[in-house]
Amino acid sequence: MTTILNNLQAVHARIRAACRAAGRADAEVRLLAVSKTWPAACVREVAGAGQRAFGENYVQEALAKMAGLADLDLEWHFIGPLQSNKTRPVAENFAWVHSIDRFKIAERLSAQRPLHLPPLNVCIEVNVSGESSKSGCPPEAAAGLAHAVAALPNLRLRGLMAIPAPCADPTLARRPFARLRELLEQINGTGLRLDTLSMGMSHDLEAAIMEGATLVRVGTAIFGERIAI
Ligand SMILES: *Cc1c(COP(=O)(O)O)cnc(C)c1O
Repeated sequence: MTTILNNLQAVHARIRAACRAAGRADAEVRLLAVSKTWPAACVREVAGAGQRAFGENYVQEALAKMAGLADLDLEWHFIGPLQSNKTRPVAENFAWVHSIDRFKIAERLSAQRPLHLPPLNVCIEVNVSGESSKSGCPPEAAAGLAHAVAALPNLRLRGLMAIPAPCADPTLARRPFARLRELLEQINGTGLRLDTLSMGMSHDLEAAIMEGATLVRVGTAIFGERIAI
């Protein structure tokens, strides 16, 4: 078996072990394979092993990859920072956007979502690590933004996403994930029904699953170290 497929199996094993440790069913946690910087051939290989959901950060790179993989039934997730002049191709080509951090972006995505497609699934990105992270809306603003986004016609608000700052102390690693889960519970207490906590990456997926992650976004542990671009 190739390195990538070995890696994929190892990630599945980590997810299963974390679910067991957390007393959760495996089926509660979806794997998003983050394929940014990796060529379409690598995506095809992972798709051949049954992986369907792939995450991308850069619009042009993602569109080129999608074109080369159009024969496969894949679900594309946009997880990178999104500028307002790039919303149209995202609205037209992706199934999910995890990185909504302001209303204007959501409004444009809703207006630009083609009507023949199902509503675009979206998550609000929350900055749970304070000043150490530049992306995401402040936790205090998340509930208001969630209600505004939930009212847009061509989006389906699914939940919250976070990219906590890397944490050297493993006893503290769960804290930002707990914060995001509490925020989701709080927002659901105000009448919304969000079902997605998009949190956990290659180095911290166990901590995220312990705190209720329903979708982990894993790149390096599957595809290998990225060359800086
Ligand atoms: C790159 C990226 C990931 C994957 O990170 P790895 O450490 O390679 O697993 C997850 N989420 C976001 C938003 C990313 O940009």
